[in-house]
Amino acid sequence: MTQRWDIVIVGGGLAGYVAANYLAKTDLSILILEKGRNVGGRARTTKINHQYLNLGPHAIYKKGKAKFILENLGIKLNGKSPKLAGDLIENNMEYAAPFTPLGLFSSSFLNWKERIEWATILMKFNRIDTEKLTEQTFYQWVQQAAVSKKVQSLLYILGRLATYCHAPEKVSAKLIVSHLKTVMGGVLYLDAGWQTIIDQLHNNVVISGVQVQSSTVVKELEPIEHEHFKLVLSNDEEIHGKYVICTTGPHELNKMLGEKLDRPQSSFLAQITPVRGATLDVALTQLPNPKKLFAMGITDPFYFSVHSKYARLSDDAKSAVLHVFKYHHPDDHIDGKKVKTELEQFLEMMQPGWKKHEITSRFIPQITVNHRLPQIGDEQKFHRSKTNIPGLYIAGDWASPDSILSEGAVSSGKQAAEEIIQKENR
Ligand SMILES: Cc1cc2nc3c(=O)[nH]c(=O)nc-3n(C[C@H](O)[C@H](O)[C@H](O)COP(=O)(O)OP(=O)(O)OC[C@H]3O[C@@H](n4cnc5c(N)ncnc54)[C@H](O)[C@@H]3O)c2cc1C
Repeated sequence: MTQRWDIVIVGGGLAGYVAANYLAKTDLSILILEKGRNVGGRARTTKINHQYLNLGPHAIYKKGKAKFILENLGIKLNGKSPKLAGDLIENNMEYAAPFTPLGLFSSSFLNWKERIEWATILMKFNRIDTEKLTEQTFYQWVQQAAVSKKVQSLLYILGRLATYCHAPEKVSAKLIVSHLKTVMGGVLYLDAGWQTIIDQLHNNVVISGVQVQSSTVVKELEPIEHEHFKLVLSNDEEIHGKYVICTTGPHELNKMLGEKLDRPQSSFLAQITPVRGATLDVALTQLPNPKKLFAMGITDPFYFSVHSKYARLSDDAKSAVLHVFKYHHPDDHIDGKKVKTELEQFLEMMQPGWKKHEITSRFIPQITVNHRLPQIGDEQKFHRSKTNIPGLYIAGDWASPDSILSEGAVSSGKQAAEEIIQKENR
């Protein structure tokens, strides 16, 4: 029997669930289709041996729109803000990171002249008019913003830390700087991980009658007539919907639609490059060095942070959950074995002998952090692609021209839902 729904949401991650939370307040029938065995997408948290492992290091932005929207939906975000005190690493040398007032004055990484330049940039950061950066790459902006090479390197480090993008010569300065401004408002590491967001969003919608079908892959999406779609599943079952919100990545969307998108739109989607990295997620019975909680490579694109210092990520108070991460450049050829060794060595520098205390660890050599590396001109291209197929809405971390990560996923999920509600009310 063919199923018919008012709204079919493809993807049970943040974007899909936020859309469903808004739409659940209407009388429309809603189905979420998720290919994974579990819902949550990249906001999933896996519980292994009483330890909560997010899929790589995850922080929510205290001044960001995602937090605002989620809280408006009644989602509780419990956790704590990490301190940015820690180390910067170059050639096995450790320097205090000048990201806190103490770090700024004590770090041997900068001389006095550089310190003043760095402090001046930080003080003025919030007043940067990002609308003036539309035509610049982040590299071009950094070259103009700072004279000292060391201060420039600090801007690249903060850019990586905030956005996961490690291609300053390719990314849009406007987006990176505006996201950095949001991140500088502080972040939260969440107790029991990001799954808590998904679980609350899920519970909200199921009690309103939204159906969630996991382990279900949509293989084709066919617009049949005005506001009538046929979705073909991998088992060839068909589902029909009036509206579709697609929250997969752009390449998957292109594939599902086949030739249905017009040329400029499908080639824009095909050209979108993902932001990727490698993650080593680790739980230890104890930290060999409890003082080392945060570090970033200066030239080498590495990250290390003990998330359990701030968030409750274990059922046992003594153990530690930490993440080590490598930011990939889009042109990198990834040798998984080599990257794993690099991440383990970076961790060894911070927590010597950590292996002896290992409860569990998980290494992922290549994970998509954001489906779109934000580039100059993305805004115009998005504008063109918006209303191509009536009734089809896109959401996800790549689908909002002016934001990325959870900011993009949550805000585009909300927007897709609001557009459908407006249409229905007309
Ligand atoms: C290592 C790492 C670190 C991160 N750190 C941060 C951070 O600190 N702060 C932050 O804000 N964000 C961070 N993010 C990004 C954040 O996790 C994502 O932006 C967000 O979870 C994306 O949500 P989404 O709904 O857009 O996509 P997804 O979570 O990918 O959801 C899409 C869903 O669609 C499903 N799907 C795909 N194709 C099909 C199909 N054909 N049929 C059915 N279902 C399908 C997928 O299985 C998936 O569940 C990080 C991500 C990673 C990987």
